[in-house]
Amino acid sequence: MIKATNINKFYGNLQVLKGVDLHIEKGEVISIVGPSGAGKTTLLQILGTLDVQSDKSESELLINGEAVNKLSERALAKFRNNHIGFIFQFHQLLPEFTALENVCIPAFIKGTKKSDAEEKATELLAFLGLSHRLQHKPNELSGGEQQRVAVARALVNDPAVIFADEPSGNLDSESADNLHKLFFDLRDKFGQTFVIVTHNEELANMADRKLTMVDGSITK
Ligand code: ADP
Ligand code: ADP
Repeated sequence: MIKATNINKFYGNLQVLKGVDLHIEKGEVISIVGPSGAGKTTLLQILGTLDVQSDKSESELLINGEAVNKLSERALAKFRNNHIGFIFQFHQLLPEFTALENVCIPAFIKGTKKSDAEEKATELLAFLGLSHRLQHKPNELSGGEQQRVAVARALVNDPAVIFADEPSGNLDSESADNLHKLFFDLRDKFGQTFVIVTHNEELANMADRKLTMVDGSITK
């Protein structure tokens, strides 16, 4: 599902990723832990094609069989919208749109028919226990509900892989526990691959594999 070889990243003279190699199978839930500043977010952004590694010629990045290093900006934007889902610490829902509309947006960008997008979004929101919240705007939802809407949005195009950066970092422990269980339910139901950067030990340890990053390298 993901094959990354020799991923390097420099900011000026500072090397924040030092030749990272990573191989992730379809349906795996991977957690990435490590001290602040280790390079976890940078790695996730590069794997998710939101950022690019330094010196692409020396590295390889395959996502779902696609050599994303070699795509044009335009093709990459399309690939990202259609095949990758993102969940961030802060949900980044659009405040003026309802839950249902927020979930539909990536499907509209993909070109999915409105009725099909709404059907899919409604089904996902129901699976996430939010059938009674379709017409609510983000500020009318609890933190846990907002984050579940963000999860539905990440899933609406049936992405091959979901990248999550501190997805429960802003939630109380009960909402966090519910969100963590959800990732595994989704993997079991839809076969999704998850790559999750987290400081939450429980979530990190629930993963199929826990990777530790220290000073720009995966140490185990
Ligand atoms: P982590 O997610 O493990 O906390 P990050 O990937 O956020 O680590 O950051 C790794 C290192 O890269 C840190 O030293 C950080 O200060 C530096 N860094 C991150 N983004 C930038 C940037 N845009 N410009 C310069 N340095 C950056
Ligand atoms: P969750 O476990 O999903 O985070 P909570 O226990 O925090 O849910 O909230 C329960 C209910 O309280 C929610 O369904 C929501 O309607 C309401 N609620 C909680 N926080 C807020 C808020 N900040 N604004 C509006 N309603 C809220």
